Amino acid sequence: MPLYDTQTIKIYNSLSGEKEIFKPITKGYVGMYVCGPTVYSNVHLGNVRTFMSFDMIFRYFKHLGYKVRYVRNITDAGHLENDADLGEDKITKKARLEAIEPMEIVQRYTVDFHNVLNTFNFLPPSIEPTATGHIIEQIELIQTIIDNGFAYVVNGSVYFDVHKYNETNEYGILSKRKLEDLIHNTRTLDGQSDKKNPQDFALWKKAEPAHIMRWPSPWSDGFPGWHLECTAMSTKYLGEQFDIHGGGMDLKFPHHECEIAQNKAAKGQDPVKYWMHANMLELNGARMSKSTGNYINPAELLSGENDIMSKAYGPSVIRFFMMQASYKSVLDLTNDGLLAAEKGFHRLMDAINLIDNLKTSDSSSFDVAAWKQKCYDAMNDDFNTPILIAHLFDAAKFINQIKDRSASVTSEDLDLLKETMTIFTFDILGLTSISKDDSSTDKLSGAVEILINLRKEARLNKDFALSDKIRDELAEAGIQLNDSRDGTTFTTN
Ligand code: AMP
Ligand code: ZN
Repeated sequence: MPLYDTQTIKIYNSLSGEKEIFKPITKGYVGMYVCGPTVYSNVHLGNVRTFMSFDMIFRYFKHLGYKVRYVRNITDAGHLENDADLGEDKITKKARLEAIEPMEIVQRYTVDFHNVLNTFNFLPPSIEPTATGHIIEQIELIQTIIDNGFAYVVNGSVYFDVHKYNETNEYGILSKRKLEDLIHNTRTLDGQSDKKNPQDFALWKKAEPAHIMRWPSPWSDGFPGWHLECTAMSTKYLGEQFDIHGGGMDLKFPHHECEIAQNKAAKGQDPVKYWMHANMLELNGARMSKSTGNYINPAELLSGENDIMSKAYGPSVIRFFMMQASYKSVLDLTNDGLLAAEKGFHRLMDAINLIDNLKTSDSSSFDVAAWKQKCYDAMNDDFNTPILIAHLFDAAKFINQIKDRSASVTSEDLDLLKETMTIFTFDILGLTSISKDDSSTDKLSGAVEILINLRKEARLNKDFALSDKIRDELAEAGIQLNDSRDGTTFTTN
């Protein structure tokens, strides 16, 4: 019997504003779409947090035995500055500034994105479609929306008619906004005169002569709107009805609101059963964001090369830090928080490493089976990772007590404890053991220190050939030695 038959998940559905029992559209299968990054710059840790929340969710569904199709796209065109319908394409702008092809920008930052996710031990999604690879599907979708009377063409651009849509539908259903309020609060910007109303949004934009990323369409040589891309890609791979659509909280409006409107206008229904929104990572009490400059990149946190934190942190410590908060809560990234997470992560790992050497007895002073179900209950309750971690710490305490002989455990219970700790810590939270994390750098430092001392000895013996050989061969291996009055240090590239 698959685990999903005995474990019932409740998901907070942003659309209903309630926790609902998760019932997949097809028994045993889960279809999940998550909006991916716009690949015009290095991802910051806020982006990483959102994708990590969905990585944990993906892992839990898989653990329960569901066959999960997880689609996470790459936005490689059509996302304009300020998430608006005016302004330059984010990717084209970066390409212009660097005087290279937009697709070089796309390639560079897609590679960076994958590297970062690998560092944090993410599972790859089942499908990673790109917006530029689905232009035909998008053109077809736009045509359907026009045919159904919910979009209009002006000067080669196509706009979604929000007012027309709102006559028979509820624009704002997800973000709990009212069109009347939006009308009062929208500034009319110069240059938006193509639109009937400022609330309308672009499905297709005619490209200016200088716009490089362009495709032919029935309306003009141009490019698709950002909201439309996700509608085309999600329904292409997951069908006209699918289980979960996720993304960061900031995408609720307008991005996801527009996705709902596009789908209803094209197919008469919102295909999504559960809308899930991951909350924001903050830095210095404000949302981490590329545009405001308030952000830190993963590489800066991992290397310690930043002005914000006191030291470098390993990827599992950072992952543990993120998992200590519910995906639905705002989380502030601070040095104190990371130091505490580092301590907690090591406490957990130390306990797991003790398990194999524990002595067993003929009775247990801790109900391991009940504890195991509590771990599932935490995850079943809308993926409550902080509660899960509290239970893992209870087990860590028990393990330490067994070691000190102030608690006892049977060998069956010990096996169950080990298996359960491993599943939740590594498979579901996605942490990696210390040896993969910090101590590999510790070991490297140890080895390089030995070579630095050998080189020092060689120099004292005036064996400069050997001392240079050590320096040069380390450099070839990507390790630079830096001599100063205080001694020799090293850096890696
Ligand atoms: P973007 O590349 O800007 O489209 O963002 C990629 C993903 O990162 C989206 O799901 C955003 O909601 C998410 N995101 C952006 N900033 C943050 C943040 N400070 N904390 C958490 N998620 C974020
Ligand atoms: Zn999207």
